[in-house]
Amino acid sequence: MSMSQENQAKLCQAFPGLYRQFASPEDLTDMTRFGLECGDGWLDLLRGLSADLDDLARTEGLTPQHPDYPVITQVKEKFGVLRVYLLHSTQAMRERIEQATQASAAVCEICGAPGTLLSPGWCRTRCDSCRAEEDELLRARLAQRAGYPG
Ligand SMILES: [Zn+2]
Repeated sequence: MSMSQENQAKLCQAFPGLYRQFASPEDLTDMTRFGLECGDGWLDLLRGLSADLDDLARTEGLTPQHPDYPVITQVKEKFGVLRVYLLHSTQAMRERIEQATQASAAVCEICGAPGTLLSPGWCRTRCDSCRAEEDELLRARLAQRAGYPG
């Protein structure tokens, strides 16, 4: 699942230093190739995380112009939760990222409503309504594949 172009742009504009790989397509990083590989429901989590990472960097005396200012190299959903990979990270930054990963297990990846990490099987964090809608679509697709009517 990918975040909408609009929301990706919002994050990159608000935190150009953290998301600077995004703005350098010639490097062909995971960020430029795949963008943010999670649903729009986690936008607020990412916004809060990004703001805190920026604060933590500044307490280290690092501004976005500094070469050692942290850079996000990948954002994705893995095993149902948010994963964020950061270069030039400190212990405090890694702890803050871990906190966001844990928080994501309670936020629907699709719509941002309170959700539950569904597992085992297909691990995903969904609210009841998005889960029902997704399961319905899946059932319809499987029925079609099997050649059953409806
Ligand atoms: Zn939802």
